[in-house]
Amino acid sequence: MSIPAPASISIHGIRLVNLAMDEALAAIEAALAARQPTRISFVNADCINIAAVDASYRETLASTDWAFIDGIGMRIAGRIMDQPVRDNVNGTDLFPRLCESLAQQGQRLFLYGAQPGVAAAAAEWAQARFPGLQICGARDGYHPAHAEAEVVAGIRASGADVVLVALGAPRQEAWIARNMAASGAIVALGVGGLFDYYSGRIPRAPLWMRRLGLEWLFRLIQEPRRLWRRYVVGNVVFLGRIGGDWLRARSEGTLARALETRRSS
Ligand code: UDP
Repeated sequence: MSIPAPASISIHGIRLVNLAMDEALAAIEAALAARQPTRISFVNADCINIAAVDASYRETLASTDWAFIDGIGMRIAGRIMDQPVRDNVNGTDLFPRLCESLAQQGQRLFLYGAQPGVAAAAAEWAQARFPGLQICGARDGYHPAHAEAEVVAGIRASGADVVLVALGAPRQEAWIARNMAASGAIVALGVGGLFDYYSGRIPRAPLWMRRLGLEWLFRLIQEPRRLWRRYVVGNVVFLGRIGGDWLRARSEGTLARALETRRSS
């Protein structure tokens, strides 16, 4: 069985799957049921900024199976480009729902990435919340590069169906592209700071802030030194890129209409 390609939009040259959260979860469940190897990324405004200057990340995103649309910046970009975004499909909100589904289906989950102890603490959270969930391993993302093969072999030996890779963009997407097949997992998702939240290492924004699309502001307040460039500079740069795309699309539209008028007169 092959999964039909979901509807997509394109933001700053990156093709994105435009699904609601429920549909994204259903698509993952279908891929698992069909044992169809599937690489998943969650693309936010920061990812678009990275992709704009990093050709290798751009290629990895282009080859990923499903790049979901993550965050308020992307929603604004979609509105500007007249490509309405259906939902904020981010790994952090998806995680509990995915755990619930994996527990029901008896599928095995591996958590890879973040600082020592953090993936294990996130695993404990998930295990306590979903007692039937089979977590077949947790491993931190801070090890020498030469240990990569050993990490991948560990995931394969664990029999994981799903692996969450929390190394941050673009590292996690590159890792998944390199190692997905050897890991033996059916579905691999790049999830950024997800384990930091569920382990309790970093508090997550309150629901009202998330609903207002202000999660980025909350994160900025938590870790201003690390994140000011990503969010303060990054958001302005992102809007500049989308503004440029809008101007280009508008002038191309004007030119096309002028040519059409000349042809028909
Ligand atoms: N990380 C890692 N190994 C590294 C660098 C980063 O495991 O060599 C982890 C880091 O501890 C964090 C995650 O990758 O848990 C990236 O988090 P970030 O907040 O940058 O990602 P975002 O959620 O914004 O994509």
